[in-house]
Amino acid sequence: MCGNSELLLALATQSNKLCNSHCVDFSAPTLLCYISLKGSRSFANAPQRICAEKVLKHASSGIMGIELKGKRRILFLCVILALLLFIPTDLKAESSICYGTTANGNLTNGVQLPADGDNFVGYSRIARLAGRTYVHSAVRNIILSSYQHLKTELPHKVFKYAETGFKSGGKFKPHKTHQNGLSVDFMTPVLDEKGNSVHLSTSPFNRFGYDIEFDSKGRYEDLTIDYVGLAAHITALHKNAKSQGYDVWRVIFAPNLQPKLFDTEYGHYLKKHVQFSTKRSWVRHDEHYHVDFKVPCK
Ligand SMILES: [Zn+2]
Repeated sequence: MCGNSELLLALATQSNKLCNSHCVDFSAPTLLCYISLKGSRSFANAPQRICAEKVLKHASSGIMGIELKGKRRILFLCVILALLLFIPTDLKAESSICYGTTANGNLTNGVQLPADGDNFVGYSRIARLAGRTYVHSAVRNIILSSYQHLKTELPHKVFKYAETGFKSGGKFKPHKTHQNGLSVDFMTPVLDEKGNSVHLSTSPFNRFGYDIEFDSKGRYEDLTIDYVGLAAHITALHKNAKSQGYDVWRVIFAPNLQPKLFDTEYGHYLKKHVQFSTKRSWVRHDEHYHVDFKVPCK
């Protein structure tokens, strides 16, 4: 019933601190339970209930700097808890605001992508430290929920994201776009000789992977492009963008390699919903694909 809101966890921690001499592990749901049992006579003087009182007093004065007494204090705390439980996570976190276009724009409150997750990694810790992996908060949410979906759909596949942009957006050399938190590069998923999903290697020695060139058959050394993984990822990005009220504006990927993408089971969906670049871009997009998200900007 109570979920895992930060306040509940904080209360649980506080209660342990305050009451560890009297109470066994005092979790947030049990705290609420004790509060609700306040009227029960048999429980009125139980150490747990006395602890719950202490916790309430501490929480209500500590959180808001307000000293309330008795029923008003309980009511006050219940209102706070209810509010926290029903506020969507999105609103609790700071939202980004993008300005202008991907080619001439900037960003406020940009958020950094996590260095890695269960089925994905970033392309470079150095680049991350250099602040090159910031995006719009809506884009981060789309990217992370897509990885989450892929974990269930294709549990053996791994993914790697690459350059995104600066925290405040603006010029992002050598890229021509990536200026307002809505452009993201992803490294092309690949299979090794045994057909296992592996990462393309990215380091300062191959310009963080951007120097890699695939041949016309989608091969590079002993690796081949994992078209299923690639198509599944783009599909997941589009579906998650839509379900969160946004969209994918376009995907840039080498036009001569695109037919293989459309041959996969995801081909029909991609053709119907996703706009792929058809002309050659300023840099060959084979080792990575570039995705521009559609999020309203000022
Ligand atoms: Zn790009």
